[in-house]
Amino acid sequence: MSEPLHLKGVILPETEPRDFWVADGCVVEGPIAAATTLSEQCWVLPGLVDAHDHIGLGASPTGAVALSPEETLRQALTDRDAGVLLIRENGTPAQTRWLDERDDVPRIVHSGRHVARTRRYVRGMAVEVDPEEFPAELERQARAGTGWVKFVADWIERDAGDLTPCWPAWAVAEGIERCHALGVRVTAHTFSEQAVAELVDAGIDCVEHGTGLTDEVIAKMAAQGTTLVPTITNLENFPHYAEQGGAKFPRYAAHMMDLYRRHIETLGKCHDAGIPIFCGTDAGTVVLHGKAPGEIVKLGKLGSHEFALGAGSWAARTWLGQPNLEVGAPADFVVYESDPRVDLRAVEHPACVVLRGVVVASGGAAH
Ligand SMILES: [Zn+2]
Repeated sequence: MSEPLHLKGVILPETEPRDFWVADGCVVEGPIAAATTLSEQCWVLPGLVDAHDHIGLGASPTGAVALSPEETLRQALTDRDAGVLLIRENGTPAQTRWLDERDDVPRIVHSGRHVARTRRYVRGMAVEVDPEEFPAELERQARAGTGWVKFVADWIERDAGDLTPCWPAWAVAEGIERCHALGVRVTAHTFSEQAVAELVDAGIDCVEHGTGLTDEVIAKMAAQGTTLVPTITNLENFPHYAEQGGAKFPRYAAHMMDLYRRHIETLGKCHDAGIPIFCGTDAGTVVLHGKAPGEIVKLGKLGSHEFALGAGSWAARTWLGQPNLEVGAPADFVVYESDPRVDLRAVEHPACVVLRGVVVASGGAAH
């Protein structure tokens, strides 16, 4: 049983300071005479969200590997100490369901393994299948997760020397339909124009990265309510990816650089069109864990501070089916000493992190 807590501050997205009480792991009405006061002047965000996070994924010289339980736990705690208390895990070769048994790690929405086309992805990272096996494999991974499943919709094709869709449209449509029949939401990795147009046509629930979104597809996404997790933190690596492929695949390199040069403009159009956009970092790839606060700051390029904070906190939590800080809800929140509505970079310096009503980190800056 945790000790009761009290603080006085602005509980975002509210606008005025008030008293706030926690007991037995939950938000309560109060007052509680015996409560420990954490702060008398602070700003509180419902636990941050990293909606594109690969827990248990690591790199090896030949591709990707599943990390040991110790290393997997370290990733989860690095996220937590940065204030991330809810993760949508976006495909991992590691078995990570044991993390759900622990009280000291973020809550995780699992996606099973992500599904990629044979020899069209980073080796060892995803389950690789051919198109005729795709719908059944996507369904299998949907059953292995807790509400979401993910696949790789485009990647470099050596013969074309460029990004191309990994799957025929019929396979994508059938795979999505099978997952929807299970009540599982579907998302996909996509950089290129053609693949994302086909995904949106097939009724996908969410798009990862989305650099290839055109005005027409943006309008369709907005009308359908399709969500977007751009992972700006990883998009900033596009020049590096272009350089890696450049000598052998000049068309690919030029395409990646074109997408990169336009990415803030493209994502800004998505925001302006009303597409719900959420914070995800792609942690576990070349991106390290604990970067969600930085992604929130980058999302501030697309819209208001209020939008960016919601995208990495309360709005993302609602989208993933988790409560915010209403009475009776789990006490998962992050405390800041300065107002992130004034300067978003405040989210990079949590004063303390409270998970399930317990102070799990305090005083440190985000990693
Ligand atoms: Zn990813």
